[in-house]
Amino acid sequence: MSLLLIRNANIVDPSQSLDAKRDLLVRDGKVAAIDDAIEAEGVEVFDAGGLIVAPGFIDLHVHLREPGHEYKETIESGARAAVAGGFTSVCCMPNTEPINDNSSVTSFIREQARKAAPANVFPIGAITQGSKGEQLAEIGEMKAAGIVAVSDDGRPVVDSGMMRRAMEYAADFDLPVVDHCEDCCGAAGWAMHEGEYAALMGLKGLPGAAEDLHVARDITLAELTGARVHIAHISTARSVEMVRQAKARGLAVTCEVAPHHFILSDKDVYESGYNTHFKMAPPLRSEADVEAILEGLRDGAIDAIATDHAPHHYNEKMREFDLAPNGIIGLETAVSLTLDRLVHRGVISLSQMVDLLSCQPARIFNLDRGTLRVGAVADVTIFDPNRPIKVDASQSQSKSRNTPFDGWELKGSAVATIVGGCMAWRNR
Ligand SMILES: [Zn+2]
Ligand SMILES: [Zn+2]
Repeated sequence: MSLLLIRNANIVDPSQSLDAKRDLLVRDGKVAAIDDAIEAEGVEVFDAGGLIVAPGFIDLHVHLREPGHEYKETIESGARAAVAGGFTSVCCMPNTEPINDNSSVTSFIREQARKAAPANVFPIGAITQGSKGEQLAEIGEMKAAGIVAVSDDGRPVVDSGMMRRAMEYAADFDLPVVDHCEDCCGAAGWAMHEGEYAALMGLKGLPGAAEDLHVARDITLAELTGARVHIAHISTARSVEMVRQAKARGLAVTCEVAPHHFILSDKDVYESGYNTHFKMAPPLRSEADVEAILEGLRDGAIDAIATDHAPHHYNEKMREFDLAPNGIIGLETAVSLTLDRLVHRGVISLSQMVDLLSCQPARIFNLDRGTLRVGAVADVTIFDPNRPIKVDASQSQSKSRNTPFDGWELKGSAVATIVGGCMAWRNR
């Protein structure tokens, strides 16, 4: 029998409307008790005085690169970056090599995770074979093998008829469909957001309308099919407004935002001087879009914060801006960025933060997580909302270093990460 007692915790758990000072006892990987003062003999004690204790954070959107691109990241290194950043669970996108479009790849990912990953790894299966958009993948078989959602992330599903069939099929298996919303919009080969800064930099721009077109289509199809649709990495004001209205109409439409999209804009791309760590899909949008995203986080139109952790090798990013691959790492900076930019600036409360990083992600992907109720799996994130940190990419647990936040000084940091009752990471 293994026992862990977390003392003097400020427990913030919106799943049970709890925001109070308590002790928390973990026994055999489960939450055994939450009470005012728990006495227990011969147990490992973690003093959480001054810290926040929350249900384990869940990242709905990461790229772990294994199988196929282990030089960028492996399931093990990505999961280590996750626990170092305060995440107990990650959901990994299928755009590996081979693509996770069948049950043998799904099983491989789960087996690698079981052997080597300090965090829970929940695979996402492809919508179409090879994510080519032509034929549906083996969604039923992948569901049996353990996928928690389907997505062709990295690419949009261009054909609306294919998306309709995918939604009907996924609904039969009670799986959410996650869409990377990007209409071509006459902007093939784009390098950043379309606007004055793209013009100043001489780079081809992708308008916000490219996202809005697919979000509008997916909401329309969600209504037609009754499927659960989750918009990946939302980035525009109009898309946030459409999701807000879809929710008001009672549709099962949810969305996530990545920290870079609630902090940075195309002006930062300009000021970075062609720094490819500011290049991702969707691109950093206008300052007005960032404002609308902050409002969406504030009023609940946005359901989750997800990193879109996308590791790339140094040599790949060190190219001309328009030729460099999209994406940045994010697992180890998300909690600090959220605390510094959202909580300390009064955009959201601590309770909303935990909802956005744990309770709601669990609900969206139907995961048996996101709560510290007695009897639940003891996945716990412990963080210090006030600890100052300086981001140092060279110390990352990820195999890659591609972040625009290197050197940033932020207030707030993850302190300990407990997965299934075991201390997977601690920094105190
Ligand atoms: Zn994407
Ligand atoms: Zn992605």
